[in-house]
Amino acid sequence: MSARPDSALLVDRFGRVATDLRVSLTDRCNLRCTYCMPAEGLDWLPKPELLTDDELTRLIGVAVTRLGVTDVRFTGGEPLLRPGLEAVIAATAALEPRPRISMTTNGVSLDRRAAALVAAGLNRVNVSLDTLDPVRFRTLTRRDRLADVFEGLAAARDAGLTPVKVNSVLMRGVNEDEAVPLLRFCLAHGYQLRFIEQMPLDPQHGWDRGDMVTAEEILAELRTEFELTPEPGERGGAPAERWLVAGGPAAVGVIASVTRPFCAACDRTRLTADGQVRNCLFSRSETDLRALLRGGASDGEIADRWRANSWAKAAGHGINDAGFQQPDRPMSAIGG
Ligand code: SAM
Ligand code: SF4
Repeated sequence: MSARPDSALLVDRFGRVATDLRVSLTDRCNLRCTYCMPAEGLDWLPKPELLTDDELTRLIGVAVTRLGVTDVRFTGGEPLLRPGLEAVIAATAALEPRPRISMTTNGVSLDRRAAALVAAGLNRVNVSLDTLDPVRFRTLTRRDRLADVFEGLAAARDAGLTPVKVNSVLMRGVNEDEAVPLLRFCLAHGYQLRFIEQMPLDPQHGWDRGDMVTAEEILAELRTEFELTPEPGERGGAPAERWLVAGGPAAVGVIASVTRPFCAACDRTRLTADGQVRNCLFSRSETDLRALLRGGASDGEIADRWRANSWAKAAGHGINDAGFQQPDRPMSAIGG
């Protein structure tokens, strides 16, 4: 195995550099999307195991000031459920150099929080929305909250958390007929839509390749109604392949994590709500920064362990390999 170069950054053996930190603020959620959580919820992480706001802020500080992280995205579980969210965002925004700060949320109660989040320093949001139909929404998320999500989206746009991106997962026999309506809705409201292929990260381990609606199918469906042309320019580490709609400037993205993996350009590192660093959604091992931190380690020691975690990053997620094994943690406890 090659030796790690003397770099302060989160480099790996395949020439990638992680600059995008995903921070899970909680594993809890107020929805129960069928592909993400069982109806009864999961065994939530016990409170003493969760990082406190101060611990979280310290680790984000190490990532930004010592490891070259330029983008911080808060996620979960549902990040809006984290008490002290605004304070954590404000502390992140006070770091030098200031990172770009975004959040992935289900949008419930975002309408009441958008202004305070902007004041704290949040730059952008991604809101997850898989259906426009209230009855379907209730079946899919097991909660009757579609109107709240619509209000959250509008409030985010009006508060300047732009571009507001909408993430949609299509599932066969559930909402696969909504590609066109979702795009029409997003175009009409000025939101940027991205479809995400469903990945094997559900706690029930019920993912079935045959039920996944592929990027190719989504694009074919969209083309029945819209003219799509590849967006010119570099994609960089961005997971979404983007297509101009009717010549632009509006665009739609497709994140083909399974059928067209973008691992070779991955620039992510992840911190879970209980202080574990993961170099991939699909990692089968983690680095315990919480133990290090609570054991009195210095920022320099923490940074070194984080670098070692990145150096050990695999070339790809392996979903399409014969011996693929799903990680033990479900998506909601890793941070999507
Ligand atoms: N609760 C927030 C939300 O729903 O946006 C943040 C966490 S959620 C786990 C983040 C994103 O992961 C959502 O857009 C959700 O649709 C997506 N997601 C969850 N399970 C998934 C899976 N198995 N495959 C692909 N995307 C998934
Ligand atoms: Fe909650 Fe997001 Fe999972 Fe839905 S996808 S259950 S909103 S964490």
